[in-house]
Amino acid sequence: MSEDFYDVLGVSSDASTEEIKQAYRTKATEYHPDVSDDPDAEEKFKKIQKAKQVLTDEEKRQAYDRMGHDRYEQAEKHGFDAGDAGAGGMGGGPFGGMGGGGGMGGGGLGDIFEQVFGGGGGGRGRRRPRKGRDLRTELEIDLEQAFAGAEKQFTVERPEECEVCDGRGHPADADAETCSKCQGRGQVTQVQQTPLGRVQQTTTCPQCEGEGTLYSETCDECRGEGYVRSEATLTVEVPPGIQDGQTLRMEGEGAPSPEGGRRGDLLIDVSVREHDTFEREGDDLRHRLAVSFPQVTFGDTVEVPTLDGSVELEIPQGTQSGETFRLEDKGMPRLRGRGQGDLYVTVQIVTPESLNEEQRDALEAFAEAGGDEIEVKEGFFEKIKRAF
Ligand SMILES: [Zn+2]
Ligand SMILES: [Zn+2]
Repeated sequence: MSEDFYDVLGVSSDASTEEIKQAYRTKATEYHPDVSDDPDAEEKFKKIQKAKQVLTDEEKRQAYDRMGHDRYEQAEKHGFDAGDAGAGGMGGGPFGGMGGGGGMGGGGLGDIFEQVFGGGGGGRGRRRPRKGRDLRTELEIDLEQAFAGAEKQFTVERPEECEVCDGRGHPADADAETCSKCQGRGQVTQVQQTPLGRVQQTTTCPQCEGEGTLYSETCDECRGEGYVRSEATLTVEVPPGIQDGQTLRMEGEGAPSPEGGRRGDLLIDVSVREHDTFEREGDDLRHRLAVSFPQVTFGDTVEVPTLDGSVELEIPQGTQSGETFRLEDKGMPRLRGRGQGDLYVTVQIVTPESLNEEQRDALEAFAEAGGDEIEVKEGFFEKIKRAF
């Protein structure tokens, strides 16, 4: 529920501007977020500011009185219908000539937001400066870097303010002329009669592109854009445990704001290269470990690589090919939360492709002792020969 501005300030609806200002000063002191203990102080303070702002501006106050609180707030959000302008001329809105006539702060509706929600005070600006565009880039890292985290340096192409004209788009001494299409407002308003009533649409002025001013010359360097493409070298902190396909955000490293606001962000899509030794599954890693037949037969202690040095793994006697061992906490660090995933080591028995004579005799003896009848195939025999 929204409160009537007069109630917010605790004044009667016929209070004079002086009384309203006095009431505002009292209330503002009481509810200033820096001094008040009230948990809702900030909210209340904003309301007080806004109430004062509307009620001490004669034109805005007239519109407010005429429309009533709810309609005024609605209109402020969705655009004023020209019909609310009373006697004002076409496209006037409730505040008169919308900056055309000089007088009160020269602003459109954006002014209200600027003043209430903390742009620069004074009501000089046309509206709160928009943030610059977000930009996107890609970054490829190794699994080792995803494991340990890394500071990655990279270059990105992005627009920068033109140094020749300081982002103005025109030489400093170019002649300026108020845009005739928008009378300097930077926006044009069209009112259309539709079956549902009057619809007012406000768009950026196409002639001056929202600047409100036209210049006799444009900057040669940036062709009037105010920006040039440039290459920036940046360093991003890649957190340990980052997954393939995740995006990092570097705040304020995107495109500059054309209106002097803050820069957009740079979004970095990270891809993690496949690894020769490990396969990643979320926070776990998988590794295939080649072992020999005697190793699994007798049991052995083997070295297993991890991303953080090698560890020893006890292979029990009689281990089968394809058996998997879990090495706890030897996987990837968890990006959110503590600890690490696990490393799964799958044992794979490697059959020798060639044998020396001694090995061959021993293996034959082994087979015979087990009662196997071995028919040595041609191909295998050839390989044995090659070994010598
Ligand atoms: Zn214009
Ligand atoms: Zn320039």
